[in-house]
Amino acid sequence: MRTYDIVTIDGDGIGPEVCQSAITVLREACGERLRFTAAEGGAAHHLKTGAVLPDDTFAACRDAHAILHGAAGLPGVTYPDGTEVGNDLHLRLRFRLDLYANVRPIRLLRGVTSPLAGWQPGQIDYVIVRENTEGLYASRGAGINLRGEVATDTLVMTRKGVERVARFSFELARRRQGAPRDGRRRVTVCDKANILRSYAFFRAVCDEVAAGYPDVEIDHAYADAITVHMLKKPDCYDVIVAENMFGDILSDLGAGTVGGLGIAPSAEVGDAHGLFQGAHGSAPDIAGQNLASPVATILSGALMLHWLADRHDDADLRAAGERVDRAVEAVLAAGHTVPRDLGGNASCSAMTEAVCRQLGA
Ligand code: ATP
Repeated sequence: MRTYDIVTIDGDGIGPEVCQSAITVLREACGERLRFTAAEGGAAHHLKTGAVLPDDTFAACRDAHAILHGAAGLPGVTYPDGTEVGNDLHLRLRFRLDLYANVRPIRLLRGVTSPLAGWQPGQIDYVIVRENTEGLYASRGAGINLRGEVATDTLVMTRKGVERVARFSFELARRRQGAPRDGRRRVTVCDKANILRSYAFFRAVCDEVAAGYPDVEIDHAYADAITVHMLKKPDCYDVIVAENMFGDILSDLGAGTVGGLGIAPSAEVGDAHGLFQGAHGSAPDIAGQNLASPVATILSGALMLHWLADRHDDADLRAAGERVDRAVEAVLAAGHTVPRDLGGNASCSAMTEAVCRQLGA
């Protein structure tokens, strides 16, 4: 039976708790088929050694079948320019492994009450595809602060970069069942094409790509207006594709509509590599107290199984991914073990045990 090498990086804050939780669940679901190897990295590691992403960690990530990460970053650990060191762990992995599509499913699960009144499970089910290597964040470390008077960061769009994330989004829409409201397969291009040339370019290139997918509807939304639509008619969305920073912001908003950051998974994938971590950060306020919800990281682990299964045409792994998804939802739906951020009082370890028990049931 085929096995897969998974590099795990605990990271900072709640990173170790949620990463270890996901490993426990994945072991339960997949047995010996996943071989986990722990690697170092993050803000605390930088404090100790000066390296946020050590060379041997990068090499292990490059050579593994997939990477599972907790979270990285500590507010007090910053560069002289004020930016946080910890973010460089995943930013460097994104750039160096060319993880150009950041896939963030927004799905209202059974047992979770949306803060939006009246929405039921099944009615909010879309995916935000955040372009992950260009846009405004491409300038990381390269912006200018001129004598403390003027600061700039440059937004970068390339035809290659936009084309591939657009194609990724249309392909994804083809594999989905369409928007809950009307069952129509749809890619919504989110931009500010009315204001900046770079976003007009983003839209134009997405439109070109759309021409090759007549079976998928293309839709456009400005980044400001879509924040209202995501609250008032979330069932209209199927796949949303957005520039890096817009995608970052929108995915936190989307997560908020289906329960919060503790439930939102994330997959960062390119043509050769994949990195999986919850959409949340390191939440230092609740770190080390067994208070964090591991759900986002467990569901990110399930995304990893689905991604590996697709790449390696592995039906057993796909089934394991579906089992993990179902187990998490069954635990939440039963309502006995509910994480604190969803209104319950279950600890990180209690959630982990409950999901494992459900997997074994
Ligand atoms: P980043 O910019 O690195 O994504 P952030 O500033 O958005 O991080 P987070 O660390 O993601 O901040 O989290 C914001 C708050 O949400 C946390 O302080 C915490 O209270 C809550 N939170 C985040 N993740 C979880 C989780 N897994 N379980 C419970 N609460 C969480």
